[in-house]
Amino acid sequence: MSYPFNNISGINDDQTIKVVVEIPKNSSHKIEWSRLDGYFVLDRVEPGIFNKPVNYGFIPQTLDEDGDELDVLIVTDEPLPFGVVVPRAKVLGVLHFEDSGDNDHKIICVPADDRHQDHYQSVYDLGSKWQQQIAHHFEHYKDLKEKGTTKVGDFADAKQAWQIIKDCHQRALKNPWW
Ligand SMILES: [Mg+2]
Repeated sequence: MSYPFNNISGINDDQTIKVVVEIPKNSSHKIEWSRLDGYFVLDRVEPGIFNKPVNYGFIPQTLDEDGDELDVLIVTDEPLPFGVVVPRAKVLGVLHFEDSGDNDHKIICVPADDRHQDHYQSVYDLGSKWQQQIAHHFEHYKDLKEKGTTKVGDFADAKQAWQIIKDCHQRALKNPWW
């Protein structure tokens, strides 16, 4: 059975990706696309102090080592509405991250056509304060529930991000649900 968002190919021919937005920047709603049900789920409402500092979503037709689609942080000035598809996003890098021992990478991107953001070429261009804020969020967002289960690693460049995207796409192709 196929559902919306499952049939979208996440990798474009022009070195951009497609991204489905699940959580708008500044939201406390942990919304997740459930690929087997074919609808979005409100998994939980987070404490307000852990609102997402950046839009959050996934690349269709990918699987990361945690068994879910590959996660993406989409950098924009204003919150993006949930459920919207960014048809072309430029990959800037990746944040290495582990959740309960599983690799759960966060690909970092900007919409390819965004005059406020499209001068960024690399995650390092976003600056050390941005990186510190993102790292702090992912280190601590589960502190009131399951403290110590998340582990933030390093930021890495777009080349490494693309290798992870391709690996996660291959993993999905071996195990298709669409
Ligand atoms: Mg994940």
